[in-house]
Amino acid sequence: MIAKSMTPFVRGSSEIRKMFEEGKKMAEIYGAENVYDYSVGNPGLHPPKEVYDAIDHINHDLDPHMVHGYMANAGHVSTRQTVADDLNKRFGTDYTIDNIIMTVGAGSAINALMKTIYDPGDKQIVFAPYFVEYDNWAGNYYAESIVVRSNEANGFEPDPEDLKKALTPDVKAVIINNPNNPTGVIYSEETIIGLTNVLKEAEREFGHPVYIISDEPYRELVYTDQEVPFIPNYYDNTLIAYSWSKSLSLPGERIGYLAISPKSDDPEEFFGAAVVASRVSGATNAPSLQQLIIDECIDAQVDISYYKKNAEDLYKIVTDAGFTALKPQGAFYMWVKSPVADEHEFIDALKQERILGVAGSAFAGPGYIRLSFCISNETIMNSAESFRRAGNKYFK
Ligand code: PLP
Repeated sequence: MIAKSMTPFVRGSSEIRKMFEEGKKMAEIYGAENVYDYSVGNPGLHPPKEVYDAIDHINHDLDPHMVHGYMANAGHVSTRQTVADDLNKRFGTDYTIDNIIMTVGAGSAINALMKTIYDPGDKQIVFAPYFVEYDNWAGNYYAESIVVRSNEANGFEPDPEDLKKALTPDVKAVIINNPNNPTGVIYSEETIIGLTNVLKEAEREFGHPVYIISDEPYRELVYTDQEVPFIPNYYDNTLIAYSWSKSLSLPGERIGYLAISPKSDDPEEFFGAAVVASRVSGATNAPSLQQLIIDECIDAQVDISYYKKNAEDLYKIVTDAGFTALKPQGAFYMWVKSPVADEHEFIDALKQERILGVAGSAFAGPGYIRLSFCISNETIMNSAESFRRAGNKYFK
């Protein structure tokens, strides 16, 4: 018998499974090449050549005990040093190995951070639309989200004034995901300065840290000349959750890290607690082989220009069909306005044209849908006629 507390999660995941099954069924009926699946954010590109070379080298030349054995829970010293050096070189910071813990992707990094910070009843602030797994993960530690909404008028960037109104003394963290899933927006430096000024004031008033958890799996996926502000340079109590799931196309391999700013409140104590949090969450340590790959591939990336072209082509197709969309600045998502109030109706209309997307309500962003364009460019180009037919239903 399963716990009562699991019931809502099981219900939620059967919704996702339903969509997945539906996609498979459509592929059987119409042929996979005639179904345009923009639903899942599973990177379509292969990992770069450097990853395959590193795997060969590690398997042939390194001591198997070192490659496959248990290790310190925080991860290989060499990999943590590589990550610290990379951050310091790129962002002018002072990270050391005692600020870095290798994790099982960003999901595990965020869980370790939440377990380190939250007591039951604590609150976190999230900016909608958002990746709602944040709520489930906070629930693991009996903490809850307060949702602050952004909207069309402010380009889906959070408003510091709204943050100010939502802050209470039991808020222990604010989650920022930039570039953003699901909107594809990059929050500007002005927004980050506005938000961090509000948080600095709150820390003074409440007398305790209000951490920023900076969730950065899309940090490298940028399609404009905009800078993605590196938040630790604006706010001392910043904790980074990073992942190579997207930048190296390794989502199934589960590799990321958490970084505790050396300028944060008692970083030494935090590091010790976060190592324990990571272990007791059951992760024990990040996969060893993947850490060693990162050691050798820290400068490697998937071909971002491929996603950039996808973003441009899909934007043209969708807007030519009459729909309104945000032009993606980063990540690999396009946020499209539903032409009818209930975006589920729009999702159904697209399905009739064999186009699959995700309803914005799944990200606390009703009235919109998310299209994930990490698929092949050929599929995107082939979907143009279907989008045109869907557009004709609303705009002709
Ligand atoms: N955060 C956001 C915003 C994501 O979109 C994802 C995955 O898609 C994650 C975190 C989890 O990333 P990982 O695969 O590294 O656990």
